Amino acid sequence: MKDIRYLKGVGEKRAELFAKKGINTVEDLLYYFPRSHEDRSEMKEIADCGEGETVCVSVTVFSPVRDVRVRKNMLISTMIVSDRTGALNVVWYNNRYVKGQFMTGDEYILYGKITRNRGKKEMVNPVYEKKGNERFTGKIVPLYPLTEGLTQKILQSAMELAIKDAGRLEEYIPADIREKYKIAELNYAMKNVHFPEDFESYNIARERFVFEELLILQLALTGHREENTELAGTVFKDALCVREFAKTLPFPLTNAQKRVLNEIMSDCKSGKVMNRLVQGDVGSGKTAVAAAAVYAAVKNGHQAAMMAPTEILAMQHKETLDKFFKGMGINVVLLTGSMKVKEKRLAYDMISSGAADVVVGTHAIIQKEVEFKDLALVVADEQHRFGVEQRAKLAAKGNDPHILIMSATPIPRTLALILYGDLDISVIDEMPPGRKAVKTYAVGESMRKRVFAFLEKNVRSGMQAYVVCPLVEETEKSDLQNAELLSEKLAAIFPDFKIGLMHGRMRPKVKESVMDEFLRGDIQILVSTTVIEVGVNVPNANIMIIENAERFGLSQLHQLRGRVGRGNEQAYCILIAHGNSEVTKKRMETMCISNDGFYISEQDLKLRGPGDFFGTRQHGLPEMKIANLFEDRDILAVSQMAAKDILAEDPKLESEKYKALRERADKIINSGIVMN
Ligand code: ADP
Ligand code: MG
Repeated sequence: MKDIRYLKGVGEKRAELFAKKGINTVEDLLYYFPRSHEDRSEMKEIADCGEGETVCVSVTVFSPVRDVRVRKNMLISTMIVSDRTGALNVVWYNNRYVKGQFMTGDEYILYGKITRNRGKKEMVNPVYEKKGNERFTGKIVPLYPLTEGLTQKILQSAMELAIKDAGRLEEYIPADIREKYKIAELNYAMKNVHFPEDFESYNIARERFVFEELLILQLALTGHREENTELAGTVFKDALCVREFAKTLPFPLTNAQKRVLNEIMSDCKSGKVMNRLVQGDVGSGKTAVAAAAVYAAVKNGHQAAMMAPTEILAMQHKETLDKFFKGMGINVVLLTGSMKVKEKRLAYDMISSGAADVVVGTHAIIQKEVEFKDLALVVADEQHRFGVEQRAKLAAKGNDPHILIMSATPIPRTLALILYGDLDISVIDEMPPGRKAVKTYAVGESMRKRVFAFLEKNVRSGMQAYVVCPLVEETEKSDLQNAELLSEKLAAIFPDFKIGLMHGRMRPKVKESVMDEFLRGDIQILVSTTVIEVGVNVPNANIMIIENAERFGLSQLHQLRGRVGRGNEQAYCILIAHGNSEVTKKRMETMCISNDGFYISEQDLKLRGPGDFFGTRQHGLPEMKIANLFEDRDILAVSQMAAKDILAEDPKLESEKYKALRERADKIINSGIVMN
């Protein structure tokens, strides 16, 4: 479509400003949706205007603008206008342009808020348009998200022109789909999403674009997956062996663990490849479930692999599995990127010969050097990104293992369906008995002394503590500084405690030894960035202090908090939050009142909006232009049905009928944003 530069009133300079918002063509502009609308449709006569009302009045200039300079930097311009019912003062502050614009007898429409000044009705800084040339008064007017240099007026008038300029747009949602799901036609929707006749028309128009956006996203996600669904998978003949394993555990499995394990085992004997996501709050016991599945793979004569996002976690899993499998003759081998070449070689040999039954490691375990003898199961712990690409890598080497993804990021079910639509989902929705909820408090900087006193008391009594600093994304350096600085500060305040420091820029070996010291209790207070986020298990740590808690997503805070409360002592989480915004307050409050990961993530979504919630980095979704993944759940469900209809009719979207939708879906896929 036409370059925005050639749209009347835009030109080179403004085009650059538009480009900053990702608007390059007239079409881009049309899809720049308003953030809200202002109802300027109410026309009133001056006598009927009440104080505080925001209205349009149709007036004649009675006495043109006069400037009064009250102070050096304060210019007041006033004008008197009237209609047949009365007079109104119009006032501007520091506006050098209004003088000379209005002539006695000129007729204008003004839009603004009625105030009263010394008994007279007044309108300050109104929107004004010459009568007969009204564009943005006397109707509902769109308000757009602004960016530097672009005012509402510029955007509104560019949009008005763009709609005219674009002419008749070619519809790309086929008529039968629109009819079935009661979706408005494109041209109607485009006009009414920007310049609606009334709010009902706006809602109808908006619904269309929400539907469209979610439908295209669905098509993009499913188009990506096809390959996965019907693959043949290794059949585990003996699925009941997991019962033997469960008997060896030091605790009985919870009902939720049993249910999920059953779901996994029925996949593994189905003959189709498993693609299952297990969601379970921190501490719900996902590892034991994963270990049981690994056990089954080995007992059925195959190899299994377990992948963790960090080396620390991989090492912990190795230890945990060694403990679980003690005396069973199951050989667990570790493989991480930082191992010495010689150690790696040895591991490769054991993996290819089949001497290794289980491989635990980081991404290193799917590198090309690694040849499995007979890999039948991959457990990906906290690896949301374990998807098509990794699978393809394995498949290229002749492995088509069952895949089990473990996630402690609970996301609302409806959203899980779009995000992980190709995965079957199991939820461990029950905690092992006897867990005490972590007591959580949100405090401001002013409470720091008391927080440190509390910290000292607990550490003196033999417990350990985490202090977490935010990871500042832009510069890894400042992240490092933060944690470093704080650890020095704490070392000065508590000279007789050993303070440890851990962050993402340390070499794995160093991290490992710090973590080891903490685990052994040699370090009392561990200052860290979020590298400790997932999985790490130190039961004697019962306090977590989180600095700049306002910077974290609630789900992330919840995960961090899950690091404490793993022992018998009461655990505490103290959130030090800065800033007083309502949203921050509500978010912190949510953390204090709830220990339920699903509830928390839903609140986070509500409070921060989907844009933030689905940071592309975390969840792999493109930014939504108009849909709100929380509020538009109903439309989401409808768009899912429509996507199913479409794919049933034309699984690869090859027909002319769906060509345009396919192109739009491909755009998302090619942008590489979508995971899986
Ligand atoms: P997560 O789901 O966060 O990965 P883990 O698997 O690390 O949780 O389990 C947390 C702790 O709970 C571990 O110490 C584990 O041994 C223990 N655990 C797991 N299942 C049970 C159970 N059914 N009863 C008691 N303790 C359990
Ligand atoms: Mg875990």
